[in-house]
Amino acid sequence: MTNAIPHWRDGAEFTGTSGQWADVTNPATGQVSGRVALASSADAEAVITSARQASTAWAATSLARRTQVVFAFRELLNRRKDELAHLITAEHGKVYSDALGEIARGQEVVEFACGIAHLLKGGHSENASTGVDVHSRRDALGVVGIISPFNFPAMVPMWFFPIAIAVGNVVVLKPSEKDPSAALWIANLWKESGLPDGVFNVLNGDKTAVDALLQSPDVDAISFVGSTPIARYVYEEASRHGKRVQALGGAKNHMVVLPDADLDLAADAAVNAGYGSAGERCMAISVLVAVDPIGDDLVARIAERTQTLLTGDGRASATSDDAAGREADMGPLVTREHRDKVAGFVASGEDAGAKLVIDGRDVQPRGEDEGFWLGPTLFDHVTPDMEIYREEIFGPVLSVVRVPTYDDAVALINANEYGNGTAVFTNDGGAARRFENDVQVGMIGVNVPIPVPVAYYSFGGWKRSLFGDTHAHGTEGVHFFTRAKVVTSRWINPAARPEGGLELGFPQNV
Ligand code: NAD
Repeated sequence: MTNAIPHWRDGAEFTGTSGQWADVTNPATGQVSGRVALASSADAEAVITSARQASTAWAATSLARRTQVVFAFRELLNRRKDELAHLITAEHGKVYSDALGEIARGQEVVEFACGIAHLLKGGHSENASTGVDVHSRRDALGVVGIISPFNFPAMVPMWFFPIAIAVGNVVVLKPSEKDPSAALWIANLWKESGLPDGVFNVLNGDKTAVDALLQSPDVDAISFVGSTPIARYVYEEASRHGKRVQALGGAKNHMVVLPDADLDLAADAAVNAGYGSAGERCMAISVLVAVDPIGDDLVARIAERTQTLLTGDGRASATSDDAAGREADMGPLVTREHRDKVAGFVASGEDAGAKLVIDGRDVQPRGEDEGFWLGPTLFDHVTPDMEIYREEIFGPVLSVVRVPTYDDAVALINANEYGNGTAVFTNDGGAARRFENDVQVGMIGVNVPIPVPVAYYSFGGWKRSLFGDTHAHGTEGVHFFTRAKVVTSRWINPAARPEGGLELGFPQNV
C-alpha cells in the first residue's frame, strides 16, 4: 500500500483531476513509500483561485488576530516537531537529528513573524506642510507562490510563509515532488492553529504546476529556491508576467583555512559542513582552500575524522537502536539518479588527476542494500579547471584546493560563478576583517563554516546564487511580502477658512 499525497486547498485535501502521480521513495530503502499528485494546469488554477478568494478577508483580518494564529502555529510546531522530523527523514533521507535541526531553523522565522506588528509600523509626519500630514504603511501583496527544493522540505518554505502570512498574504506552496509530505503536514498544522481555510495551500507537481504559478494573473509574487538554471528561468518567467520575484539558486561554498588557524577546529568544521546532510545543503562546504603550508597537515586531520563517520538509515537515529547506541552521522542521497550522478563526479575527479583520499563508493552503509548510498569522499590537489571544482555536486564530496597565499584564496572565491556562502578560519582578527571586505559572497562565516543568518537577518547569496535583489526573511522578507503606500492628507480647519481656491502650479510645501 502506498500513501497518496494530494494537494491542499480551502483547508482540505484536494486530489485534482490530472490523474498524474509520481513515486515518492524512501532513500534509505529504495522502496516507493507514496505517490504524489502532479497538478494539471486546471488543478493549479483551482488551487490559485481558492487562494485568491481567501486573500481579501485575510488581509482585512486584524493584526492582532493574525499574530495570534502565527503564535498558535509556533506552539503546535514546537510541540509536535518530532512528527515532522520523521516525515522528513523518511522521504529526504537526512538523519533524524538533522531533520530536527532544519525545523528549529525554520521555527526561528515563525518566531520572528510573531513580532510582525512592530515591523509593519509605518512612519508619520505631522504638519509636513501647513495643515498637511503624511504617513506610510505597508500592505499585503495578495497571493504569494513559494516553490521549494527537496533538500529542506520544512525549513526553506518556513523562510517565507510565516512572514507572508503574518503580513496578510495568502500562500500557495509548491514543494519538491521528491519529499512532499512535510508540506501537507504543515497545512494540517495551520488549520489546527486557526488559520482560515484558503490562506495556506499546497500545490503538488512538477514544471506544469510551477509554470501555472509563474504565469497566473492571480499570483502576485514568487519566492523560489532551487538550482541555478531553474532559478534563472523562474526569475525571468515570473518577471515577464509582472510579478515580484526572488529566486535563490545553487552554490559552491569555499572554506579558507589560513596558516594560523586552529587546525583541529578547522578539520571538525570541514567535516561537519562538508558531509552533514550528505552534502545536500546549499550552504554545505564543498571546497576547502588550504593556504600554504598547512595542506598536508589539514588533509590528514580531515581524513582521520572522515573515516570515523557512520553512513546509514537516518530513521535509526530517532531511536538510536543500533548496537553501539550511536546514530548514523549521514544518510543516503535523495534518489538513485542523484547518487549515480554524484558517484559519476567522483569518477570524473579521479580521471582528472585529483588525489582521491577517501572514496565514498566503498562505503559499508548501516542500512538496506537498495538504499541510495554514497559515503563521504575526500579529494586533495583539486584544481579550478576540474569538473569537480566547477560544478555544484550537491553530495558528500569535499575538494581540497591548495593555494600559496591569502590573495590567491580570495581570487579563487571571487572568480567563482556562485556567491552563496563562504568561511574563513583564522585566529587573526585583521585577516578576518579583510576577508569580510574582500569576498564577493552574500553570507560569510568567521570560524563558522555554515553561516546561515539568524531569522532576523536576511538569507541570500550573490552572483548566480540569487536572482532578484531581495534576500529571504528578516526585514528584507517583510519588505518583499509587502507593498508601500504613502498617504498625504489635509483636513480643512473650519476656523481657518477660506482654504482651497484654484492653483494649477505644482504643489509646494510651505
Ligand atoms: P531544483 O531546481 O531541481 O527544484 C527546485 C524546485 O523547482 C522544485 O520544486 C521542482 O519541482 C521545481 N522544478 C524543477 N525543474 C523545473 C523546471 N524545469 N521548471 C520549473 N520548475 C522546476 O532543485 P532541487 O534539486 O530540488 O534542490 C537542490 C538545489 O537547490 C541545489 O542547486 C541547491 O544549491 C539549491 N538550493 C539553494 C538554496 C539557497 O538558499 N540558495 C537553498 C536550498 C537549495
